[in-house]
Amino acid sequence: MENNILQIIYLIASVTFILGLKYLGNPGTARKGNLIAAFGMALAIFATIFLYKNEEGNNLGNLQYIFGGILLGTIIGWLAAKKVQMTAMPEMVSLFNGMGGACAMLISAIEFNHIITSLNEAPAFFLLVLGENGFNPFAGILLTIITGLVIGSVSFAGSIIAWGKLSGKVKDKSFPFQQFINVGMLLVILFFSYQVVAMKSEQFVTIFYLVWFLALLYGVLFVLPIGGADMPVVISLLNSFTGVAAACGGFLYDNKVMLVGGILVGSAGTLLTIVMCKAMNRSLLNVLIGNFGGSAKGEALTSASFQGSVKEVKASDAAILMKYAKKVIIVPGYGLAVAQAQHVVHDLENLLESEGVEVKYAIHPVAGRMPGHMNVLLAESNVSYDKLIEMEQVNPEFSTTDVVLVVGANDVVNPAAKTDPSSPIYGMPILEVENAAHVIVNKRSMKAGYAGIENELFYKPKTSMLFGDAKKALTELVTEIKNLG
Ligand code: NDP
Repeated sequence: MENNILQIIYLIASVTFILGLKYLGNPGTARKGNLIAAFGMALAIFATIFLYKNEEGNNLGNLQYIFGGILLGTIIGWLAAKKVQMTAMPEMVSLFNGMGGACAMLISAIEFNHIITSLNEAPAFFLLVLGENGFNPFAGILLTIITGLVIGSVSFAGSIIAWGKLSGKVKDKSFPFQQFINVGMLLVILFFSYQVVAMKSEQFVTIFYLVWFLALLYGVLFVLPIGGADMPVVISLLNSFTGVAAACGGFLYDNKVMLVGGILVGSAGTLLTIVMCKAMNRSLLNVLIGNFGGSAKGEALTSASFQGSVKEVKASDAAILMKYAKKVIIVPGYGLAVAQAQHVVHDLENLLESEGVEVKYAIHPVAGRMPGHMNVLLAESNVSYDKLIEMEQVNPEFSTTDVVLVVGANDVVNPAAKTDPSSPIYGMPILEVENAAHVIVNKRSMKAGYAGIENELFYKPKTSMLFGDAKKALTELVTEIKNLG
């Protein structure tokens, strides 16, 4: 009876996950979506703790450890989420994703030990299993265990490196023959995994731990060299890995809600990876074997090789240009998030519109430091969603635009992606802002963006630099436009 109720609760929880995802698709309803899915998850967890019964009719037990873990995790998660700066959010998401991978990895390790223990308790059966006819009743479960172990370990180790890279603690590191080493390691992992699943060798327990180690190492080596501007693809790929690894846990425990949750994360992550690959103009195979982007070692153009000089503009002059424009497109980037200038950029938009200027935002799919970063940021200041125009739609519009205002964006407007084959971002589609009549770029200095490369746009005759922190510079711009009367 309890198990029937439990299954119904799992069904309800699964529906909340799907609803949650649906609501997360729009910044206006995202908060609600998050709450609905979190409620479903809590329901599933507590129902499992209190209603689950195994075949002998026993409850889960170990309540002191379970509630101890829940309490500890809740406190750490709560404090971390409260303390984190908005700009450090991508790092935290990466770290939490890694924790999901670690859970799946540990589940596999524990369940493997359960199998070994049961084999040791019944040596006759063990012999039968390894017998001549080769029938292995554990093959299915071992396949699930090893899949969860490998994918969970790659996701855990890779996410920790991604966290290090996003927070600037780990630098890109390419190593000789990296593609060959990565492909070789993948093949070795596959071969040894087969040895474990088929129980071909009497050493299969040792091989299991070897696979575990190699998968962790692969996670590190696969993310370490990825540089340039290619991290978004890896982040969404690792996210989908965690989902698949969790789904393996669902298989192992025959737990429907874990399975559904894992599949949803896995498939949503995979879709996001495909979208990100498209946005970066990269192939998924290249991502998987690490033949990707390259670190910022490419001989990208340096300032010395650029024609032209940097032209600075004062807020008062920029104000005149913008107030008397017909059409202005704002390009937000990571610097907008750093400066927390989303509210003042919305004020600027409102002010310009009240002066009869048409204003839109151009959204590059990898602007900022996490997928959808700019959408979330601008939604926070209630910028209307229909003003956010995706790259493909907005690019043809630049040629009919009077002024483009780039706020804290750099890589996503770097023409080297189109013109310089030696650049680590070569091939990535960019916002073609140089087609507009005037380009005003706001940033604090001439420093490079995430990819660590110079930007020729800043040296073009059409471009003027409005130096300063985005919040301060935009506030000044708003004041100057108001002063124009
Ligand atoms: P970039 O990192 O290329 O450039 C941001 C610019 O903002 C910097 O050049 C910096 O210049 C400026 N800046 C920083 N702080 C401020 C401030 N307070 N006020 C004004 N300007 C500021 O950002 P983009 O958004 O153009 O591109 C995103 C990059 O991040 C891409 O390379 C992308 O691949 C990568 N990435 C994206 C992820 C995603 O999922 N979206 C994940 C991981 C990486 P200065 O110091 O001179 O002010």
